[in-house]
Amino acid sequence: MKQIEQWVRPNIRQLRPYSSARNEFSGEASVWLDANESPFNAPYNRYPDPLQTELKKRLARQRGVRPEQIFLGAGSDEAIDLLYRIFCEPGKSNAISIAPTYGMYKVCADINGVEYREVSLHDDFSMDTEAVLAAADANSRLLFLCSPNNPTGNAFPVSEIERLITAFDGIVAVDEAYIDFSAQPSWLGRLDEFPNLVVLQTFSKAWGSAGVRLGMAFASPAIIDYYNKVKYPYNISAPVQRYALEMLDRADDVRRWVDDILSVRSQFVEQLSVFPVVKKIYPTDANFVLIRVDDAGALYAWLVTEGIVVRNRSTVTLCGECLRVTIGAGDEMNRLLEALCRYIQNRE
Ligand SMILES: *Cc1c(COP(=O)(O)O)cnc(C)c1O
Repeated sequence: MKQIEQWVRPNIRQLRPYSSARNEFSGEASVWLDANESPFNAPYNRYPDPLQTELKKRLARQRGVRPEQIFLGAGSDEAIDLLYRIFCEPGKSNAISIAPTYGMYKVCADINGVEYREVSLHDDFSMDTEAVLAAADANSRLLFLCSPNNPTGNAFPVSEIERLITAFDGIVAVDEAYIDFSAQPSWLGRLDEFPNLVVLQTFSKAWGSAGVRLGMAFASPAIIDYYNKVKYPYNISAPVQRYALEMLDRADDVRRWVDDILSVRSQFVEQLSVFPVVKKIYPTDANFVLIRVDDAGALYAWLVTEGIVVRNRSTVTLCGECLRVTIGAGDEMNRLLEALCRYIQNRE
C-alpha cells in the first residue's frame, strides 16, 4: 500500500493552514459579523464557501465518487500547479512526463524550480512505458499522463496507464481534459484502487465553460486534504460555484454537444482526407485533430488571412509540419475546408 505522506514536502506536511472565518463557523445564522464583509450588495458581499460543499456534493453524485475525493481549482491549471507545491522540493525533486504533451506541466515545473524530465513518444505517438519508468529515480515525485493526449489526440491503453500507476513510486496525474470525447473509460471508476492516482478533469472542454475557470482533481482523501491545506482559502468564487451547479443540471445538453462535435469530427476528417496537401491525419479521441501538411507555416498564414485560426504545433517534439485543429461547429469546419480549397488554387 502506497503511503502518500512519504512524498509530501516536509514544510507542507507540517503546515498549519490559514483558517478563514467561514472555516471556523459554517452553520446556520442570521447575523454574520465574523468576516468583515459589507452588509450591502448581496449576494456578492459574502465570502464563498471555501470548500464548495454543495457543488462537491452534486459533482460527487454525478461522477460516482465521494465529496472528500474532490478538489476544485481555477481551471485544471491550478490543480496541476498545486501538485508541484505539495509534493516537490525546489532544486531537489523531479517530475516526469511524455513528449509531446500539454505545456503547463513543464511551465509549472519551471515556476516551481523543479526538474522536468520528458520521455519522447514513438513516431506514432504510442508510449514506451518502460522508458517512462526508467526516467524516474529516488527524487521523482510526479508523473503526468495526458490521455487523450494534447496535442496528439490519442488515448493510451488502460493496461499501460495501469502499469505506470502501479509501478511509479510517486503521484500519477492522469489528465482527462478530453475524456468526454473518448471511447475509453475514465479512471474515476478506479480511484479507490490507487492511493497515488490523481485524475484531472475540467469544465473547459466538453462542458463548454472555459471562460469561468473551473477545474477538478479527483484523488484519495489524503491527497485532497493536502490540496485543501495549500490552496487559497476562497479559490472558487461564489458566482462560479452557482454557475457550476446550474451546469451540472445540463448534463443532457452536454451529452448532445459532445455527440454533435463527434459527428462533425468524423465528417471533417473524411472531407479533409481528400486534400493532397494533408499528408497525415492522426487518429483522435479528442475534440481536435492533429494533421501533418506539406507546409504548416504557409497554410497557417493563409488561414489567418481567411480569418481562421488553428494551432501551429510545428516546433513541438515529433510534430514537424503539424497543425492542431479544434472541432468547432459544422459551418466553421466548412469555412476551413473552403479556405483550404482556395489555398490550393492559389498555389497552382
Ligand atoms: C485544455 C486542457 C486543460 C484545461 O485546462 P483548464 O485550466 O481547466 O482550462 C487541461 N489539460 C489539458 C491537457 C488541456 O488540453
